[in-house]
Amino acid sequence: MESRPRTSPARHDRWVVGWRELAAAAADLAWGGACAACGTPGPVVCPDCESRLRSLAPAAVTVRHGVPPTYARGAYADDLRAVILACKERQGLGLVPVLAELVTGSALALLRDRWVGGPVLVVPVPSARATRAARGFDLTGAMAGSLATFLRRRCELDARASKALRPVRRAADQAGLTIEQRALNRRSSLVARAGRPAQVLVVDDLITTGATLAEASRALRHAGHRMIGAAVVAATPRTT
Ligand SMILES: [Zn+2]
Repeated sequence: MESRPRTSPARHDRWVVGWRELAAAAADLAWGGACAACGTPGPVVCPDCESRLRSLAPAAVTVRHGVPPTYARGAYADDLRAVILACKERQGLGLVPVLAELVTGSALALLRDRWVGGPVLVVPVPSARATRAARGFDLTGAMAGSLATFLRRRCELDARASKALRPVRRAADQAGLTIEQRALNRRSSLVARAGRPAQVLVVDDLITTGATLAEASRALRHAGHRMIGAAVVAATPRTT
């Protein structure tokens, strides 16, 4: 096995996970192989789109009160939107390593700015059971697992993934709701498993109004944890 340079949270711009190898096999199985971003026949993400995606600098998202500090790789548009949608709706599993690498960049920037040392618990925002069943895999769970492994192996952090959050009731469809309605809709919709208090980094694919992340934060704090913040792939500009 080749040796790789160790990467610290401060050096997030230089890491390479190598999603192309992992995803190539799945691409052939899923869609006859076309780039999720531009449609060029070949791997799930073509080399041009891959370098564009990797060049997206993670940055803090402006969030309202109650939403934990959140970092994303960019707006939910163009390449990021195409890759997220393709993963959720079409190419599925083959694109998980791509999204996992993107969210890892967000997480490293978050840790660089907000982590004060000590063990890190990586917690995915849970998808609805029906969504997981329809999709055939757990996207946020897979991203959280991949991120925790990266933090342990490449950054030598004491990090582990835990599905510490679970939905307690089905929140109604969020589409068409105002920020206030979404917040109300989400309140007490998640519960965090009690356990040894930890510093928590929450993982999700998207932030829209932040209602879901605020609820995740509330539930985790209620269970005694301290929030570092949230890492997501993309942020939807607020429209309501
Ligand atoms: Zn492409």
